[in-house]
Parts: sequence; structure tokens; C-alpha cells
Amino acid sequence: MDCIFCKIAAGDIPASKVFENEEVIAFDDINPQTPVHTLVIPKKHLVNINDLNKENSNIMAHIFLAVKEVAAIKGIKEKGYRILINNGEAAHQEVGHLHVHIFGGRESLGPMIKKSK
Ligand code: AMP
Ligand code: ZN
Repeated sequence: MDCIFCKIAAGDIPASKVFENEEVIAFDDINPQTPVHTLVIPKKHLVNINDLNKENSNIMAHIFLAVKEVAAIKGIKEKGYRILINNGEAAHQEVGHLHVHIFGGRESLGPMIKKSK
């Protein structure tokens, strides 16, 4: 399968790795939007939340535990950070492999989302 994040998970293309265990890998976003911008992905290919079911949903616990590890590694755990999942077309999901963005390292991350029609 031609999936860039599967290739990162397999070590076939390089990434700035922050954390890894059997289930997940975290690496810095190639185009950071904040001083800290790290992605956490499952090693197993899932397109997005729509692919979750009762059998595989425990991956989300692994992902969020990894978010906590990344926040500690990056020194933003106490100050706070934002996590975000772009899920599907309307959210402009560009990479079709489930990923959680972690944003931090700023005094304030601003409002949650811009108000628009
Ligand atoms: P999304 O719009 O949520 O699908 O965001 C995909 C994110 O993946 C973007 O923030 C990209 O900058 C990031 N990205 C794409 N390719 C790579 C890569 N090879 N290494 C690290 N981050 C990447
Ligand atoms: Zn993939």
C-alpha cells in the first residue's frame, strides 16, 4: 500500500522520531504549525476514526498514552497543549492514515477554531 505514514512506521522513510512502542510511533510534523508539532500514529494502517470498531478501538488508548509521553518528552505536559484529528474531507485530512496532531510550545494556542459559516 502506498501510504507515507505506513512507510514511516516501517522505517522505510526517515522521520524525526519522538516516541515509539509496539503499537504506535510519534514523530515531528515536517511542516510545524507551532514550536512543538508532533504526530502520533498507530503502526497498523487505519484511515481514520471511521475505521474503528470494538475489536481495534483499544489503539486509541495506546495513542493517547503516547500523547502523554510525547508531551512529557517535549516539556509541554504541565503548561498544556492541543490535540487534533483531521477526520475526512471536510476536515482537510491530507494523509489517509489515522494521526493525532499535538500542538504546543506557545504561551497560548489561541481559540479552538475560527468561527465561519
Ligand atoms: P492532515 O491534514 O491532518 O492529514 O495532516 C497531515 C500532516 O502530515 C501535515 O501536518 C503534514 O505536514 C504532515 N506530514 C506529511 N508528510 C510528512 C512526513 N513525511 N513527515 C512528517 N510529517 C508529514
Ligand atoms: Zn498507512
